Amino acid sequence: MDQNYWRKCIVCKKEINFSTKYYKCSVTSCDKKRAPAQFCSVDCWGVHSSTLNHKSAWAEEFHSPSKSEWQSAPKVRIVTGKSSSSDSNSSNENLPNDILVVVSKMKAYVKAKGDLNTSADVSDALSDIIRHECDKAIERARADGRKTLMGKDF
Ligand SMILES: [Zn+2]
Ligand SMILES: [Zn+2]
Repeated sequence: MDQNYWRKCIVCKKEINFSTKYYKCSVTSCDKKRAPAQFCSVDCWGVHSSTLNHKSAWAEEFHSPSKSEWQSAPKVRIVTGKSSSSDSNSSNENLPNDILVVVSKMKAYVKAKGDLNTSADVSDALSDIIRHECDKAIERARADGRKTLMGKDF
């Protein structure tokens, strides 16, 4: 699947190229992980803003990644239904299954500490551990009647 643009403008559906200027809505809830909102121009953002009746919002200027950056970036796993390997992850399918570790920093640490290379599936394994630990910590915070997860929950 070779794609020659980064994403499409959600208003006019024009393709937003790599390494180019684009705009996002300053209302953070407009930009969802599963439905990212990006605009090719301030005008398109204006259409979005008036459709949603934003009162105090503005278009923020961003720069899209270059094609190589985009291809090497750990992607948010969009459920396409054609996962190459049989996913052993049987947990709740509505939960995000992203990589939760800073892969480059983790690799650097493993290299510095043990002079080992790190295989690509390590970040998956670690992300699963983080999710598992978060699940347990969430239970502790809830048992405590808190709405905030804290370091002491781990
Ligand atoms: Zn547009
Ligand atoms: Zn918005």
